[in-house]
Order: sequence, then structure tokens, then C-alpha cells
Amino acid sequence: MSQATESDVREDGIIESVSGPVVTARDLDARMNDVVYVGSEGLMGEVIEIEGNITTIQVYEETSGVSPGEPVEGTGAPLSVDLGPGMLDAIYDGVQRPLDVLEEKMGSAYLDRGVDAPGIDLEKTWEFEPTVEAGDTVESGDIVGTVPETPSIDHKVMVPPDYEGGEVTSAESGNFTVEETVVELDNGEEIQMRQEWPVRSQRPAEEKETPTEPLISGQRVLDGLFPIAKGGTAAIPGPFGSGKTVTQHQLAKWADADIVVYVGCGERGNEMTEVIEDFPELEDPITGNALMDRTCLIANTSNMPVAARESCVYTGITIAEYFRDMGYDVALMADSTSRWAEAMREISSRLEEMPGEEGYPAYLSARLSEFYERAGYFQNINDTEGSVSVIGAVSPPGGDFSEPVTQNTLRIVKTFWALDADLAERRHFPSINWNESYSLYRDQLDPWFVENVRDDWPETRQWAIDTLDEEAELQEIVQLVGKDALPEDQQLTLEIARYLREAWLQQNAFHPTDTYCEPEKTYRIMDAIKTYNDAAFDALEAGVPVEEITDIDAAPRLNRIGVQEDYNEYIDDLEDDITSEIREMY
Ligand code: ADP
Repeated sequence: MSQATESDVREDGIIESVSGPVVTARDLDARMNDVVYVGSEGLMGEVIEIEGNITTIQVYEETSGVSPGEPVEGTGAPLSVDLGPGMLDAIYDGVQRPLDVLEEKMGSAYLDRGVDAPGIDLEKTWEFEPTVEAGDTVESGDIVGTVPETPSIDHKVMVPPDYEGGEVTSAESGNFTVEETVVELDNGEEIQMRQEWPVRSQRPAEEKETPTEPLISGQRVLDGLFPIAKGGTAAIPGPFGSGKTVTQHQLAKWADADIVVYVGCGERGNEMTEVIEDFPELEDPITGNALMDRTCLIANTSNMPVAARESCVYTGITIAEYFRDMGYDVALMADSTSRWAEAMREISSRLEEMPGEEGYPAYLSARLSEFYERAGYFQNINDTEGSVSVIGAVSPPGGDFSEPVTQNTLRIVKTFWALDADLAERRHFPSINWNESYSLYRDQLDPWFVENVRDDWPETRQWAIDTLDEEAELQEIVQLVGKDALPEDQQLTLEIARYLREAWLQQNAFHPTDTYCEPEKTYRIMDAIKTYNDAAFDALEAGVPVEEITDIDAAPRLNRIGVQEDYNEYIDDLEDDITSEIREMY
């Protein structure tokens, strides 16, 4: 955060009352959303209401011990993030203070009161290579140079969106700190590698486009049945033990995004610790570099003050937009948006606002949609194209999806991946319930799958969906009368559906090959099961008994395609064996 760096200090106010994270001050000269420093320790807060000469502030740090009469100092600046090289590989708290710097200053990451730390290292030098030269004309947002930020990512240095632009008078290559000027313009504007942006304002873009490309996750159930678009939105509920952590790691590792921003918001300390400890260990399977080379972590655990949950969500999305502006595809994961909503509820009740459903403020839905609205596939103002995809975890208490946060989220997002504790208990992983999940991107992404995978992707997938739907209906009858009471064709459908579940939908995140499944392989597994289906129904029609058809030796080999590296050859042989074995029966 950069709030303290340059703002003009205004008139001090006096604390009138303290109620948890909400503090009121008298006689403070401030505007809405200004950052202020509260009390003699200078705790960071943000103005959320002004009435007459009383200003209400939500404080992003623990307020115990802060008393009426202490001073409040305005900064005259809104809550902003520092943007520039050095954000990747970083782990921040909710107000963009690097945790390692805090730890050094405080001896512990969780005792951080009144400590200020810039979001990016102001002393470190970076190797800047200009992409413009004297005489070139640049406009706001244009890329003027690059910095090799990590082995995986080139950082693009851009003219800040609020600059006018003009003719370049100098552009130097060399090693600079983020505050040194690297490009000068004829109108006197000086461009540094660092820029600031207020977190509550969306960074400008030329145009938001309809997304047409999938964010490939390498997970069959997602790419095959419930794809999310690059620039799309998804919600994922996480009942305890349902495989949420593994699913999120899989997405962070395998999603074909250039950059991952992971916002840990209000989750229990040990879960966040897991992320903080795990992520730096993970390898980017595509480049072999550290996964953190393309990842920015923002960690606000449940033992940190509730108000900071809001700032961490906004900080995350602003960082994501900044990388989008460079032309990158960014995936932002927020875990969990329910904890943010709870923070809104707490602040709202302390403000004695009229409560809405289950005590959440009436503006819950507006806030959530403002956040998800910042996702999208964009044409940027510098004519590059980039995207921000947002995947928000929700934690419905007791797994009850009818509660307000889940319901409001479902109204906004276009993909829903329903993690299911029952499936997890049955060791069906990833435990994404195919009957409850959905993706509204399916149709608009079909042309991509047709062009890049197979012509009949949509038809084959529809066959799989129909078979699984039929299974769900038949299961109800089976529960009542048993499987043997079903007609033979329905028994066969159940057998085919079982293979769809076991060979196609199930995927082992811990198997070196099965952990990632390219779209071609996703198609071929589904198609191999369909080959069995078609041959089997032909045989049934010709009078072969269902037990004989389902008993063929080759069929169980379907369950091992996932772990085959040379899957094409394996599937070719398997399809031949299945059809010839069945052909021999009649
Ligand atoms: P949660 O975070 O929801 O409590 P986890 O993600 O830690 O649950 O998953 C619990 C366990 O389930 C894991 O330790 C692992 O054994 C198993 N599991 C979850 N997802 C998968 C998967 N895709 N493949 C294999 N095992 C999985």
C-alpha cells in the first residue's frame, strides 16, 4: 500500500468512539474512502461514512486499547495499491504489506499494528529495457518497456492510465529502482516502474468482449462438462473435507493463466498457513519454474481484523487488472467470499444499518456483483488483450446453498462447481457434483472446442450428459426395486454411466500423469466410452444378454486410460478390442 508515501497530511481529528473495527472521529477533514491513521499507534483505516463533523472509519487493524480522545490523521488519498515489479512471488496481508517485511519488523506476522511497509521493494533495482525511443509518441496505458520480473514473467512497464501521454524525450535501459524515472515525455510526465491505483476503481479498458476461449484447467470434469471462459466467473462452495484445497491447488497449478492471484480471505489461520507453506514449494508444471514465479498471494486470515477482508479482495482484483493491462490472462481465486460477506455484516451491524436477509446488509448483492463485474476478457487501452477470470469460493454454513451469500453469488457468476462432501466421502475425486454444477459458457465456448479439439465435441459431450442424467433418474428406481428389476437397456445405461464416472469424471490429482488431462485426452476418454456404448447397444438389440456385454474383458481397461501417458495408442487398441470382443458374441 502506498497511502503513506506522498499524500498531503490534513487536519487531525479526535476519536469519539471505538466499537470493534468501527471508529468514529470528530472534526476530521476527510472524504469518503480516504485512508486515515487512527490513534496514537497510527492504525490504518478507511472512511466509510461522513455525517456532519462525524466521520466513521473501518480500521484494518486490531483496535483493542485504542481510546476516545486519541488523534486521527487524514491522508487525503484513497486506499491504493502499489503496482510494479516485485509483486509476483510476494505474500501480502490484506492491505498489501509484504508478510516477510512485516515479520522482520515485528518478529511475527500476526502482531502487526501500525506498521507501514510499501507493497513493492523501493530499494531493489530491476533491469529495465525500453520498447520505445526518443521521438515515439505514447498514450496513456501504452507499454514503454519490459523488466524480467521472474523467470516466468516479463513485467511490462506502462504509462499510467491517468497520464496524458506525449512524445518520448528519453528512454534509458539499465538498472533502476521502481521510483526512478525510466521514460520522460515532452509534456513533463515522468514514468517510473511503480504506479499506484485506488483499489475501489476498476482500471480502465477499451472494451469488454464476450469471452470465447476456455480457461483450460486440465481437469476433465471442468473442461469437459463445466468449462469456465478466460475472463469468466465461477463459484465453488467448499464444505469441509470436500477436496477444496486440492481443487484450488490443481487450478493454481494447471489453469492456463499466465498469472494467478490467490486471495485468502478470512479463512482459518491453519488453512491459510497451508497455502503459504504449500505454494512456495509447488512447481509450475509447464515451465518447471517455481509456481510462485507467476503467483501473488494475499493472505488475510481469520485472526486478522475483519475489515481487512474487504481490502484484500479489492487489492487482489486491482493487482489482477494491472497484469491484465499487460496483455496477460490472469486467474484470481478468492477464498472465501463468505468471510468477506461476514465482515460486511459485522461492520453494517456496528453502523446500526437496517439489516437484510440473515443480517447481511442490503448492499451485499451490489458489492458482490461490483467485484465479479471486474472480471472479463478485455481489449486494453494499449490495444493488447487480457483477461481476469474470477473463481470465488463460498462457504455456506452446513453446506446449505439456500443461504444469502451463496444465492447472491449464484445470481452473478456463470459457472458453479458444486463440491460435494458425500462424493468426497465415497472417494470420488474431484468431488464436483455433476448434477448440481453448471456452466453458462458451454455454448459460447463450443466453437473453440470444435476448432481446437474435435468437430463432434458438443455432440459427444451431450451424449455423456444425457447418459449421466439418465443414470440419476434410474438410481432412484434402483433404490426402490434393485438393479435386476430394470429392463436390460437400462441396466446397460447404468454400466456405461459407471464408466463415465469412474474413467472420465474421476481424476487423481496425485498421479503424475492423471493430474493433468489435456482437452484431446478428455475427448478421447469420453469417446472411448461412447464406442463401448454404441457397440454394446447394437449387441443388445441383436439379442445378446446384458450380462455378457458388460462382462467383456476389455471394458475395465477404460478405467486405466487416465494414467496412460501414450493414451492415443492405448485407446486405439482398447477400442479395437472392445468392438471385436462384442462382435464375436453375435
Ligand atoms: P478440504 O480442503 O475441502 O478440507 P482437501 O482438499 O484437503 O479437503 O481434500 C481432502 C483429501 O481428499 C485429500 O487429502 C486427498 O486425499 C483427497 N482428494 C481431494 N481431491 C482429490 C483429487 N482430485 N484426487 C485425489 N485425491 C483427492
